[in-house]
Amino acid sequence: AKNSGKNSYRFFDSYMEDDVNRKNDLADILSHVIDKNEIYLQYQPQVNVESGQVTGYEALMRIESELVGFISPAEFIPIAEETGIINILGEWALIEACNFNQVLIKSGFGPLRVSVNVSTTQLKDDHLIDIIKSIPEKTGMDLKHLEIEITESVLMNSFEHNLKLINQMKELGCSIALDDFGTGYSSFNYLTQIPIDTLKIDKSFIDGICSNEKDRCIADSIIDLAHKMDISVVAEGVEDNEQLQILQNQFCDTLQGYLFSKPLNSTDFIELLSKHKTL
Ligand code: C2E
Ligand code: CA
Ligand code: CA
Ligand code: CA
Repeated sequence: AKNSGKNSYRFFDSYMEDDVNRKNDLADILSHVIDKNEIYLQYQPQVNVESGQVTGYEALMRIESELVGFISPAEFIPIAEETGIINILGEWALIEACNFNQVLIKSGFGPLRVSVNVSTTQLKDDHLIDIIKSIPEKTGMDLKHLEIEITESVLMNSFEHNLKLINQMKELGCSIALDDFGTGYSSFNYLTQIPIDTLKIDKSFIDGICSNEKDRCIADSIIDLAHKMDISVVAEGVEDNEQLQILQNQFCDTLQGYLFSKPLNSTDFIELLSKHKTL
């Protein structure tokens, strides 16, 4: 018994060591993905629930490394945040996404709204506003087409600072989406203080919207309240028609999810737009 205890301890120990090694490897990989062309964006369409038309899309970061293959954002985003590399990757994503939006506009699609995720680490970086300011010059895109997605839960840390930043972004012409709404702790009271354009109801509520009365009520209340404040609502992670039906009845504005499309590479996204696919 003594031995097995020792062994399992050792096993656990080396398991943790592997974890640390993997993290260090990934941190190293992340610092080279731009140079090595191992980073790209996928685009997931957002569809107007009423008209069925694509009105915009979210840019999602993808990393496929020669050394370890595909790494999911759930794994690399936290490491990129911890190491600060997210500031560089996030800047790259902003420029790439806006460049792509210009390609779309020039190809006669849109103008569509492009939503880009900005991490809490980027919000702490003094350069963020300058980066956003430089977008029209660098990409030719008007900032009125750019929506910045900020996760609800991070907003409440250093609220004053973030509020100031958001106001600056708004002055530059961007719109602001509050991501993963419902999972954080923000009281509705905060909402009145932040100039938000879009609320994204977190997938966890959308998952339960058909089977769980409580989730359905929460979604319904979020939509009602948002509309009273002139805020538009996106439902995240919509996967089936039953969910769509309920969201339609609740007057949700926009839908994003596998029901309409998974995130797509640029060529596939352009193909989807050229087919004029509707919901
Ligand atoms: P998020 O911002 O909430 O993005 C939505 C996630 O839900 C995406 O996962 C998307 O692929 C997935 N999704 C969309 N529709 C469905 C659906 O119908 N069913 C299911 N099961 N999933 C759906 P992804 O791309 O793996 O990204 C995960 C998270 O990583 C994102 O969550 C975001 O927090 C972060 N992330 C991704 N790209 C970036 C980026 O460029 N910058 C930053 N800071 N974070 C990013
Ligand atoms: Ca998002
Ligand atoms: Ca989200
Ligand atoms: Ca999420």
